[in-house]
Amino acid sequence: MRVLKGAEVSAKIKEEVQAALEKYNGAAPKLAIIRVGENPDDMSYECGATKKMENFGLRVQSYVYPADITDADFKAEFTKINEDPDVTGILMLRPLPKQICEKDIEGMIDPAKDLDGISPVNIAKVFAGDDSGFAPCTAEAVIEVLKAAEIPMTGKRVTIVGRSMVVGKPLSMLMVKENATVTICHTKTKDLAGTCRNAEILVAAAGRAKMLNGDYVGQDAVVIDVGINVDENGKLCGDVDYDTVQEKAQAATPVPGGVGAVTTAVLAKHLVRAAGV
Ligand code: NDP
Repeated sequence: MRVLKGAEVSAKIKEEVQAALEKYNGAAPKLAIIRVGENPDDMSYECGATKKMENFGLRVQSYVYPADITDADFKAEFTKINEDPDVTGILMLRPLPKQICEKDIEGMIDPAKDLDGISPVNIAKVFAGDDSGFAPCTAEAVIEVLKAAEIPMTGKRVTIVGRSMVVGKPLSMLMVKENATVTICHTKTKDLAGTCRNAEILVAAAGRAKMLNGDYVGQDAVVIDVGINVDENGKLCGDVDYDTVQEKAQAATPVPGGVGAVTTAVLAKHLVRAAGV
């Protein structure tokens, strides 16, 4: 089985970003990472994204607020960042604490700085097949992995497990744009295993540790594992039970070291595009 490593795709995107930056005059584009509270998952993502931006020669600044910040105070802080001409793009770590209305922030974010595609403007563009906006980075990372591995999507049966607005739904639209025939699965799907087995490309984005084992994978399928979970031994793992899938799949992404590494590279690519490079 071929292992689709995220580092190789990330290195390719780094070359594209650096080639674009060579044509760019002035200070490097700046990413603002907004975090509310001390959620370890958010902090780990922030750390990875910060390292990636620095490694790509881009600027990054974290804006951190206490978990009990009021809705009004957070919106005032958010507006300052949103309107700061030195901030090229924004990544807001979610979910926000309950007292903050996330929908309002999605409506407030400047679509031109919305690198992770949370604004209704960018979501509408993804659904319209218009690539002038920003798609959610993880969804786009899946497409980048397949393209880098030269795995064609045209006419392929693709099954996506998960229908969130961060991964499953936008990815289904990006896949349709690539001329794939897409099935989206969720907790109410009947015969999940059969539907997954029928796929030529299977994308797991359910957030359930090792849920998809060999029974869910068709012979010679390509398996893309978006899940980031912790297994019973406290180790990072995906939604796919890698060991049992290896005998059947023709290719698969590992966790860690797969889609996650590409997600932050796509974020960097979006940042450079937001700068108009
Ligand atoms: P959500 O919890 O928002 O969505 C999970 C989706 O999976 C839901 O649509 C849910 O169905 C479906 N699902 C859950 N359990 C099952 C099941 N047993 N059978 C069928 N469908 C199921 O998660 P996210 O989309 O935000 O994230 C998914 C995973 O991807 C997580 O592990 C997350 O950590 C990871 N992730 C990775 C990123 C990366 O960079 N690699 C970035 C973002 C997320 P229903 O709608 O019916 O509840």
